[in-house]
Amino acid sequence: MPSSPLYPYTLLRSKRKTLALQITREGEIVVRSPLKLPEEEIRRFVAEKSPWIQKHLEQISARHSQALPPLSPEERVRLGNIALQEIPRRVEYFAPLVGVDYGRITIRTQHTRWGSCSSKGNLNFNFLLVLCPPEVLDYVVVHELCHRLEMNHSARFWKEVERVLPDYCSRRGWLREKGGLLLDRLK
Ligand SMILES: [Zn+2]
Repeated sequence: MPSSPLYPYTLLRSKRKTLALQITREGEIVVRSPLKLPEEEIRRFVAEKSPWIQKHLEQISARHSQALPPLSPEERVRLGNIALQEIPRRVEYFAPLVGVDYGRITIRTQHTRWGSCSSKGNLNFNFLLVLCPPEVLDYVVVHELCHRLEMNHSARFWKEVERVLPDYCSRRGWLREKGGLLLDRLK
């Protein structure tokens, strides 16, 4: 039987008790190991994990091959202006359907999140939402408005989201699957 390929990895030793393997977003393999564990055992551990590593590296390269060009400063301004008009309009539409009020609406450039809601009811949205399908933008609006009722992601929270958007799962799925590609355009 051919032996599985050994991927190059970065070894980080510390006072931990067990071995752990991590693949970063950029596809770097990081192994965390106890201080005195023999290199031989670490190599065997990485070899055993090869199928898992391969699967993950393939996913990462698939994502990179789909990569969209970064947004120019001009495009960001243009999209920001669209967001400033469009998002408050959707908030205004959905707030009575959720049955809540809200404070200030801020549109921001955010590298990791799509929206947030403060305890005072101020809403933040990522301007990149205008590059999502409209039903996905609406999902984020409803999600944040539902935080006016439940400041958590409990079953009660999701019930409220579902009451307004019965198909919220597929909208949320789009964001999980494709949202990263849009966030990467801010690099
Ligand atoms: Zn939330």
